Amino acid sequence: MSQHNKRILQTKGLKPTYQRLRVMEYLEKHESHPTAEMIYRALVRQIPTISKTTIYNTLKALLHKGLIHPITITGTETRYDYHHPPHHHFLCKQCGKIMDIAVECPYLARKEVSGHRIEELHGYFKGVCKECLNRKEKR
Ligand SMILES: [Zn+2]
Ligand SMILES: [Zn+2]
Repeated sequence: MSQHNKRILQTKGLKPTYQRLRVMEYLEKHESHPTAEMIYRALVRQIPTISKTTIYNTLKALLHKGLIHPITITGTETRYDYHHPPHHHFLCKQCGKIMDIAVECPYLARKEVSGHRIEELHGYFKGVCKECLNRKEKR
């Protein structure tokens, strides 16, 4: 079990429970921006006693402390991200993959916009990813 996640939870005043650590570890290792359902399906295979409610409550607690980020790029579901620093996302409309995009965004480091305090910033790009574009050309 990773020690740094334990410390992160403690700094935020959250008890480093086994379930919280497993959810954080899953998000850290899988950069696929999974849904709560996907996390549940993966973890229940290793921890048969874990419930969907536990996953939802864990995600809620981590979100509340700003340890993970909600991504609503698909418009129909919430996906979760545990990748820092903040970054934008690209959704491929063909394969459904959500990828991290490293672009210069002057607002990522800013704390305010037109006098308003920024607490979250989301940059969503949608289109066809390069893998899908290549596949099409070869056909
Ligand atoms: Zn694609
Ligand atoms: Zn991401």
